[in-house]
Amino acid sequence: MHNDIQEILISEEEIQNKIRELGAELSKRYEGRNPLVICVLKGAFIFMADLVKTITVPLELDFMAVSSYGDSTKSSGVVKIIKDLDQSVEGRDVLIVEDIIDSGLTLSHLIELLKNRNASSVTVVTLFDKPARRTVNLEADFTGFTLPDAFVVGYGLDYSERYRNLPFIGILKPEIYTN
Ligand code: 5GP
Ligand code: MG
Ligand code: MG
Repeated sequence: MHNDIQEILISEEEIQNKIRELGAELSKRYEGRNPLVICVLKGAFIFMADLVKTITVPLELDFMAVSSYGDSTKSSGVVKIIKDLDQSVEGRDVLIVEDIIDSGLTLSHLIELLKNRNASSVTVVTLFDKPARRTVNLEADFTGFTLPDAFVVGYGLDYSERYRNLPFIGILKPEIYTN
């Protein structure tokens, strides 16, 4: 599997160090509170698991799966809920955990949705950000790494459902796409 990778952009150690920093900041942000932490499936599942172990306030977890309407290359940003939350967000401090923000369309609709359900606060933490590709005005409250405009895999992120289990973030060899 590692043979398919052309270049490692961010190592496992760098990712884990960054997550500890984010966890410390979030623990401060939510001191004395009890946030509802929402994992946006599937890409954020590994980040979610590693991140919550570094947060020291009591918290609850929930999971949501969404897909955006539109063709495969362009997100329309209209969110279709594939799996909804089990818990109500009403009156809760919600922390959305995202893998990567690209156009930002999916996330902006998700934030609207949770606000409309009367969450008392909606905060976003993303491990990766590709600001060059943004089409809506949106910034995460907490960001791990800013990436160049390249398609990356690993640490939860897939190409055709593969490579999610790589512990680092990398770029695939071009021949993988053409096979
Ligand atoms: P957007 O911000 O454009 O609405 O969508 C973001 C989603 O697109 C991410 O949650 C992720 O699933 C997918 N995505 C964006 N950039 C990449 C990338 O570089 N690699 C992979 N594997 N998925 C990406
Ligand atoms: Mg995502
Ligand atoms: Mg994907």
